[in-house]
Amino acid sequence: MLYLEHLQEGKMEKLTKEGVDVCYGCGKTQEYGTMKAINEIDFDIYCDDCFKKAINKRLEYLRGEIKNECISYGEIAELQGLKEHIEEGDVELLQWAGVPEFSEEMECLECGKKFVAGEDGNELGLCEHCASVVYDCEKYYKDYDNGRVTFKGTDTISRGILEPYRL
Ligand SMILES: [Zn+2]
Ligand SMILES: [Zn+2]
Repeated sequence: MLYLEHLQEGKMEKLTKEGVDVCYGCGKTQEYGTMKAINEIDFDIYCDDCFKKAINKRLEYLRGEIKNECISYGEIAELQGLKEHIEEGDVELLQWAGVPEFSEEMECLECGKKFVAGEDGNELGLCEHCASVVYDCEKYYKDYDNGRVTFKGTDTISRGILEPYRL
């Protein structure tokens, strides 16, 4: 944490020194405070052109993570934060970003209740209730992010991967 703070302070100093924003992508300068950062984790800021390119690159990276079944919970949250930048017809990313009109209604694999993934249930096929009362999904996702367990979408339960997390 301390290291990150130092890093950010150092970067901020450099960027604000001359009272201008410097694009991290192309080096172009612009009036201070007019460029955008992609996230709050680092302070890389971009001009409009490079911002669009950087977002698209990030979205393609996240799509790869989905395809390889290795997207982390943190990355899903990141995708949700970027949902306004996802192309209109990009159903795959919109679904994962939890945009309601692109999220299919699912039936809870445990109790049969209907829910929308990312809203009142999760991508494992569990409604909100079953994800916290029947299974300890919070612990599962923590282990998943630490590489201790795999993710197989709605097959996670039928493959028995979630069994150790049954409460
Ligand atoms: Zn630029
Ligand atoms: Zn349920």
